[in-house]
Amino acid sequence: MSNDNHKFEKIVAFIKRLYPNKEYIPLHEPRFIGAEKEYLIDCIDSGFVSSVGEYVNRFEQKITEYTGAKHAVATVNGTAALHVALILAGLKNGDEVITQAVTFIATANAISYCDAKPVFLDSDRETLGLSPEALEQFLNKNCIIKDDGFTYNKKTNNRISACVPMHVFGHPVKIEEICQICGRNNIPVVEDAAESIGSFYKERHTGTFGCMGILSFNGNKTITTGGGGMIITNNEELLKKAKHITTTARISHPWEIMHDKIAFNYRMPNINATLGCAQLEKLPEHIENKRKIAKQYKEFFSSIDIHFVDESSFTRSNYWLNAIIFNGIEERNAFLEYSNNNGVMTRPIWRLMPDLDMYKNCQTDELLNAKWLADRVVNIPSSVII
Ligand SMILES: *Cc1c(COP(=O)(O)O)cnc(C)c1O
Repeated sequence: MSNDNHKFEKIVAFIKRLYPNKEYIPLHEPRFIGAEKEYLIDCIDSGFVSSVGEYVNRFEQKITEYTGAKHAVATVNGTAALHVALILAGLKNGDEVITQAVTFIATANAISYCDAKPVFLDSDRETLGLSPEALEQFLNKNCIIKDDGFTYNKKTNNRISACVPMHVFGHPVKIEEICQICGRNNIPVVEDAAESIGSFYKERHTGTFGCMGILSFNGNKTITTGGGGMIITNNEELLKKAKHITTTARISHPWEIMHDKIAFNYRMPNINATLGCAQLEKLPEHIENKRKIAKQYKEFFSSIDIHFVDESSFTRSNYWLNAIIFNGIEERNAFLEYSNNNGVMTRPIWRLMPDLDMYKNCQTDELLNAKWLADRVVNIPSSVII
């Protein structure tokens, strides 16, 4: 125990040196060091603060330039973006959607909003995200491709209508392998890239491999619009549909107010997009800064023999939230207790989705890696250092 305490002291002292002059060090703070105030004043002076305005278009345009996606649609938050993307992927009541047990609850909730059932599969130890082996094994063991060309679960007879891999803490999943497996089974991939703006797999931005990807600009993410999200896609049909159903399915007309389906009020307000435009200008700088922090953490943790979660081969991570892996749950809990009591915010990785009451009856595989990670992974402060 005293040995552990000594190790914990060293870690907390290191983090305090990294983020000096702070009484309490949070996990992830936003940084407003660009044109935010200037753009906000301009937005307010224009009168267009709400659901239409030039900053929304500009923000979408800049996101396509940065990510390389052909199209982007800004939404009120990342969860709404995922909800809409899953509707457009064609989810029907009772369908099943494959995702990972290690994720933030928004992934599972967006699937549930479509009256579909999540299937929670195991993680890859290296990336923390959906394991391609687990995916392949589940499809081979439990599913068949029927005459209509789609994949069905043999046990439940439900269609598997999408796969939603999530790039955990900004580290890209093995997205090429996942897309290949899903392609062979005619399953559309919707990437939950909420945490991974600025992260690349083989130099291609996360969220651009599937038929759609989503980003989040919540206050704790790498860049923020206060609240906000984005759907990115290369498909122009999907772009049109996404714009339509995020704006109450209103038909364009000089004065009539007409709608052609039940839809959503999910478009990002202009005032949020002003923040997005300013934040995006600083993104490359923020990522460099975060990668430097990760490098320092990596060196430090190797010197005290604690596993630091590093980017995997072929990837360039944004290191949104840095993570370390303890030897077991007792050591993890002791560290959480020690660090949080000593002015350094740390958090365990999310509870596995099927461990939550509302998802406890969902299908899973053995989740061997997921359970191993759930007991050991801890996030440590990762804000851009100014
Ligand atoms: C943050 C996050 C979301 C949702 O984003 P909001 O903008 O908070 O709705 C979805 N999925 C994951 C994995 C996230 O981390």
